[in-house]
Amino acid sequence: MTTSIVLGAGMVGVSTALALQETGHQVVLVDRKAPGRETSYGNAGIIQTEAVEPYAFPRSVREIASVILKRGNDVDWRLRDMPHLAGPLWRYFAQSAPAPYASTVAAYSQLVLRAGESHQRFIEPAGADDLIVRQGWRAVYRTAEKFEAAATAAERMMQAYGVPSNVMSADELAAGEPRMRRRLTGAVHWTSPWTCLDPGELVARYAALFAKRGGAIVRGDATTLQQHGAGWRVSSVEGTVTAQNAIVALGPWSPVLLRAFGYRIPMVFKRGYHRHFTLDDGPRISTLDVDNATLIAPMNAGVRVLTGAHLAPPGAAPASRQISHAVTAARDLFALGDPIEETPWSGTRPCMPDMLPVVGPSRHKGLWFHFGHGHQGFTLGPTTALLLAEQFDGRSQNPLALPLMPSARNWA
Ligand SMILES: Cc1cc2nc3c(=O)[nH]c(=O)nc-3n(C[C@H](O)[C@H](O)[C@H](O)COP(=O)(O)OP(=O)(O)OC[C@H]3O[C@@H](n4cnc5c(N)ncnc54)[C@H](O)[C@@H]3O)c2cc1C
Repeated sequence: MTTSIVLGAGMVGVSTALALQETGHQVVLVDRKAPGRETSYGNAGIIQTEAVEPYAFPRSVREIASVILKRGNDVDWRLRDMPHLAGPLWRYFAQSAPAPYASTVAAYSQLVLRAGESHQRFIEPAGADDLIVRQGWRAVYRTAEKFEAAATAAERMMQAYGVPSNVMSADELAAGEPRMRRRLTGAVHWTSPWTCLDPGELVARYAALFAKRGGAIVRGDATTLQQHGAGWRVSSVEGTVTAQNAIVALGPWSPVLLRAFGYRIPMVFKRGYHRHFTLDDGPRISTLDVDNATLIAPMNAGVRVLTGAHLAPPGAAPASRQISHAVTAARDLFALGDPIEETPWSGTRPCMPDMLPVVGPSRHKGLWFHFGHGHQGFTLGPTTALLLAEQFDGRSQNPLALPLMPSARNWA
């Protein structure tokens, strides 16, 4: 048995703590906030078992021009931020070329297809079933061109990976979502994913399970991490915590901490915004308005309207373009009431240029990395935590773990 400090209590860190605990390790979970209050709180809450192919950087001139000219609502960016982002974005572009992307998909699809099973392992003992809806989610289309392409892609997903979906005509969509105010061209209903009515609460329940099983959760600042003899130490409000191992699961904050240890992590920061609205008669299931890059998700706190990606370095001022557009699009589809919060929430998807999470030991003895889950960290946290726990004990030669390891990356 070893002792370990897990830094960061988002979906990834809490899952790591649970997975290590299940394999007999003593774990202290350290965060400056309560569990699940950052990115793992503010996401769309979809356990995306359909997302077998991660978001690649656009490769066609038409798509790149659309991003540069900000024609759609998918991506926003500011010229002044580009000097901070250009290096990782360039790598992301290169890794999205057909050959490296195919290698990424080979690993990523296997991770994603395990995600439901990995979550279920925690959902049940955490008593969190009331937060989970097992009805999938729906991508809706306003234009025939995009709808036809999506229907073809859905068929390919079934053939290649066995991912189920139901392609719906305009009439079927109108019947399936009677509260929608406008008639659209059609939809793809991804039937296997699960959605969560309160993503932050799911993380909190997993954390409570970890505590119930004897784990310690303390408030502390990860930036106080230091090597200590053959191990590691960190300051917490309850005093200094020492352990043989430290696992960095700080999501988008991981690169900042690791800079102090000589690592230059080329993370692509994709910020997203959300805002809740009152609505008595909202969508039955989470609905993505593809043409407006707007997700409308029924949650316990109200209807959560979410945006695509704003490429913004940590600390950059919030922008309102995407969320304003998203709210207008959502109001066009559903009778949204008043906003619940004064201002929109924002948080950052921690994306790696090769689109794979980083999972495994670093160059420093006892220092482990577990971050970079990008668009699907809420989905993948438990799956990659279980893989990390296997590597931790040297139990696993799991070939799936290999491309995720820091040593497989050219920056590590
Ligand atoms: C708008 C949006 C929608 C999304 N939708 C989905 C979705 O539907 N499905 C999906 O799978 N994923 C989704 N994601 C992605 C997902 O939310 C992230 O990949 C995931 O939450 C990352 O989890 P994490 O545990 O790595 O990071 P976080 O949840 O951010 O956790 C990091 C933790 O580190 C702590 N921390 C940071 N610095 C310090 C410090 N110095 N000291 C102590 N603690 C510190 C923070 O307090 C935080 O608790 C979405 C993301 C966004 C932004």
